[in-house]
Amino acid sequence: MLGPVILAASRSDRMRRLISAAPVTKQVVDRFIPGEDVDDIVPVVRDLADNGLELTMDVVGEDITSPAQAAAARDAYLELVDRLKPLELGTRAEMSVKLSMFGQALEGGHELALSNVRPVVEAAAEIGTTVTLDAEDHTTLDSMFAIHEELRKDFPQTGCVIQAYLFRTEADARRLAASGSRVRLVKGAYKEPASVAYQDKREIDRAYVRILRTLMEGEGYPMIGSHDPRLIAIGQELAHQAGRKLDEYEFQMLYGIRTDEHLRLAAEGHRMRVYTAYGTDWYGYFMRRLAEKPANLRFFARSMLTK
Ligand code: FAD
Repeated sequence: MLGPVILAASRSDRMRRLISAAPVTKQVVDRFIPGEDVDDIVPVVRDLADNGLELTMDVVGEDITSPAQAAAARDAYLELVDRLKPLELGTRAEMSVKLSMFGQALEGGHELALSNVRPVVEAAAEIGTTVTLDAEDHTTLDSMFAIHEELRKDFPQTGCVIQAYLFRTEADARRLAASGSRVRLVKGAYKEPASVAYQDKREIDRAYVRILRTLMEGEGYPMIGSHDPRLIAIGQELAHQAGRKLDEYEFQMLYGIRTDEHLRLAAEGHRMRVYTAYGTDWYGYFMRRLAEKPANLRFFARSMLTK
């Protein structure tokens, strides 16, 4: 029951100010967001790569309010690409972007987001890697999929994310699987109404399995974005049934969550990519992590009380 309340708080400016200013929040945030700037994050990238893990990098931020902020977000990613270049990791370190951070919700936002994300995709391609477009709330998805399709004309490796909790996703998955796209499947992290999304966890899990089967049987590259042990096991089985080799799909998990499992899957020879977020505008990302596991909230509250 706490999850939806925390998700509602994730959109509240008042809560953002309160929580961001709390003296101990930073220590708790560090578990999920291991750095504030690119200097902090390069050693983290190196360390994960040395441990046989792959990465997708997220500069945190969303819901920006001006074109200047959108341009700053683009520049932050361009700086990241620049700093990744000497590491020569190729597709072992890709980028994840939220189009809202590139201006999607502003006036003329669709074109603005496309014009800001394109240089990032180009720069990523120059260092031999790629970009995946994260999925945000359901109102943004038609624009996200249109931008994805547009980018794929020049950069076919550009990926996107689909969310199992949305009714629309089975149809999206069929289209993307037929087009041969890279697709990350997740359960979904936003507060969505019953008119567009399953609310029951078991129904979401069942949809996840149906959609994953479609992706595995299709022409594309499925990316299993989940920490759920049952779905990870089912993912392996579906890949096997579809005759996929170990390098024809991958697992993805968030930095700081089930770290032992990251290493276990990598040691078994799976491609295991860690979604690694950094930056100062961490509020929305952090609140979604709290909502996914309300036990995190107790940890957070305890750290405030013992300060
Ligand atoms: P759950 O049933 O929520 O979790 C399974 C188990 O994992 C839990 O029992 C717990 O042990 C552990 N766990 C899960 N979450 C947490 C947590 N926050 N803290 C501590 N333990 C936890 N959502 C979007 O809407 N759009 C995106 O673009 C997007 N990108 C993602 C990228 C990656 C790589 C991943 C892994 C997730 C992404 N998500 C995204 C979030 C996703 O939608 C889910 O909210 C999140 O992954 C939790 O679902 P789960 O599949 O891990 O299963």
